[in-house]
Amino acid sequence: MNQVLVLNSGSSSIKYQLLDMADRSRLAVGHVERIGESAGAVPDHAAGMQVVLRELEGRLDRSVLAAVGHRVVHGGDRFHGPTLIDDEVCAAIKELIPLAPLHNPANLTLIDAARAAFPDVPQVAVFDTAFHQTLPPPAHTYAVPAAWREELGVRRYGFHGTSHQYVSRRAAELLGRRPEEVNMIVLHLGNGASACAVRQGKSVDTSMGMTPLEGLIMGTRSGDLDPAITAYIARRTGQSAEQTDEVLNKASGMQALGGSNDMRDIATAAAGGDPGATLALDAYCYRIRKYIGAYLAVLGRIDAVVFTAGVGENDPDVRAGAVAGLEHLGIAISPKRNAARSREARYISPFWAATAVLVVPTDEEIEIADQALALVG
Ligand code: AMP
Repeated sequence: MNQVLVLNSGSSSIKYQLLDMADRSRLAVGHVERIGESAGAVPDHAAGMQVVLRELEGRLDRSVLAAVGHRVVHGGDRFHGPTLIDDEVCAAIKELIPLAPLHNPANLTLIDAARAAFPDVPQVAVFDTAFHQTLPPPAHTYAVPAAWREELGVRRYGFHGTSHQYVSRRAAELLGRRPEEVNMIVLHLGNGASACAVRQGKSVDTSMGMTPLEGLIMGTRSGDLDPAITAYIARRTGQSAEQTDEVLNKASGMQALGGSNDMRDIATAAAGGDPGATLALDAYCYRIRKYIGAYLAVLGRIDAVVFTAGVGENDPDVRAGAVAGLEHLGIAISPKRNAARSREARYISPFWAATAVLVVPTDEEIEIADQALALVG
């Protein structure tokens, strides 16, 4: 029983990895995209699952498949860790659809399809919110009416939990310490982006909120803004709340400021003197720096600042910009270490710095597989 199939469904895509947990190798990696988007495309996630099964033919061995691990975006305040999927768990994920209207339905259809395809294999849900269930009330509470909080579930949940959990544990390993001994700030900077304050292995604050819109500037999401802007835009343009939500999630962030959601395009344009791209980069780094300051205050003392995900792992200029001017707080980068390209977890701080600055490549699939396997024994 050494194989684990990890499934990660977006609103119009399925990503999958088949892992051999005996040597932690990838037996197959692939994705199905544009589900339901046009005539002739894969119509839905159930059909998408059939495509996955066809692509896995010859590599997936049912007799040694120990578990199917599902990434599920929103677990509300109900799921604190990996959970064996049964009808009741599916019903709970369904009840949480109002909190994640695009993602949880896609996750559910894929779960149904995978349960039908592998009726004898345990299926495990790993929630993007679970790691942040340790946030204390002052950190997860919004100051809004009790009816919103108690009846409508309005609170901070946080996302990217699987990544923050994996990366913070790997970072502790790199420091040669146990997770319970260290405090750190993890910066997951990908197409989505979030910061996490980790105290002794537990998430105590994170920048994404009830939805993934809050916090850092992202590829197409605005991150923090004055909530009154939504009403203001409605009054001035007649846009509905739905339309504004769509703009803030899909047409804001780096896309809106610098003309692309891809940091490589922004960097090229900024290097060519484009003022929009330059402002986008400056604002992106400034927002990260502001969160580092806030989480330093939350944690009291930190052992490490950790960069991960597409931008965090690959963009030395963003890393340098994010911690610029923090030397007096003990946070500094060695230009030489920062510029060196590597796929390994590594230090980029100079040897004299009080706080380690690390780059740790994230691996959500291996974390999901590990958690699924640990749960099924
Ligand atoms: P992720 O969501 O972690 O897959 O990150 C995807 C994002 O990482 C892309 O949209 C890019 O903005 C960014 N990215 C990937 N490679 C690089 C690179 N070499 N330099 C800067 N940014 C990168």
